[in-house]
Amino acid sequence: MSPLPLITAQTEEKLLAFLTEHGHTKFRAQQVLDWVWRKRVTTFDAMSNLPPALKNLLAEHFRFHTPEIVEIHGSADTTRKFLTKMEDGSLVESVIIPAAVAENGEKSERVTLCVSSQVGCAFGCKFCASGLLGLKRHLTTGEIIGQILSAETIAGKRVNNIVFMGMGEPLSNFDNVADALEIITSHRGLEIGARHITISTSGFVPGLKKLAAYPRQIRLAVSLHGATDEVRDQIMPVNKKWPLSQLIPALEEWSRGRNQMPTLEYILIRDINDSPKDASHLVRIAKRLHAKVNLIPYNTVEGLPWKRPSEERCRSFRDAVHKARIPVTMRYEKGHDINAACGQLRLRKEQEKNGWTPR
Ligand code: SF4
Repeated sequence: MSPLPLITAQTEEKLLAFLTEHGHTKFRAQQVLDWVWRKRVTTFDAMSNLPPALKNLLAEHFRFHTPEIVEIHGSADTTRKFLTKMEDGSLVESVIIPAAVAENGEKSERVTLCVSSQVGCAFGCKFCASGLLGLKRHLTTGEIIGQILSAETIAGKRVNNIVFMGMGEPLSNFDNVADALEIITSHRGLEIGARHITISTSGFVPGLKKLAAYPRQIRLAVSLHGATDEVRDQIMPVNKKWPLSQLIPALEEWSRGRNQMPTLEYILIRDINDSPKDASHLVRIAKRLHAKVNLIPYNTVEGLPWKRPSEERCRSFRDAVHKARIPVTMRYEKGHDINAACGQLRLRKEQEKNGWTPR
């Protein structure tokens, strides 16, 4: 028998449909959500203003569960990476990134969580640890939300910024991610503004088309990492199926009707995509898309051949983009010392378990 669905995975619409079907009012659905998300109870019994029959009905059809936290790694820069074990034993990693100082110099209350959307990943980007073990499965809505709840337990405070940049391609798990987004953004859910949520895609065009039709103003980051098909083909197999000639129009479609700029994520890899010519190709794409550029000097992954360019090379790449009047930042992965690049912690754990070595 499959386990009962999680109450924390129910969107307001789904819970309301269930309660209406069982003869309850919208008001009751609001009360239940208030207990789950405002008061953060973990049993139906604790919902003291509900009639006993409703508590029993809920307990017969739903349950509470948060994934087991199996490892927490803190680093000198206070980024914390943690590994949770799902009910089928799958390991999922997430990263808590506190922002100590805001751009105006004041102490920021921002707590960012990088969540995973899948166990492993089918997209096999050549520089990424998550792709090394392939895709095991999609994460459910409850498992995505569970990472946020676990992070809040670890951090001792509410998460208020979410990036879907952990393991997996979120747009290939669209339905579960979309339900999670409803719960995250809902006034009767985690109530985090859509503009504090970023979905990152490797360039999965069918998913981008669905996102273009999605009504909320979620931010979009594209893992471009190469500004020509030649470079992207070399490091991102997704490009062979959906090359730049399809990806760029899909991004334009997403931008249409929104007052938002996509961010182009670009990992700088030595001798692969860090030349002045690469910078000029990147500038051309960023101009066409009115996009911002985020440069990330490569984070070494054990077992992979790629290297980080020199500081000087990274800086001159950034300067070339900046000179073309493209908004550009250079971000060093926080938690470099705790294997914070996506998938590395899980990869190491699987290696310990199976004695497996990356190809
Ligand atoms: S970078 Fe993202 S899409 Fe590519 S293999 Fe890693 S997790 Fe998958």
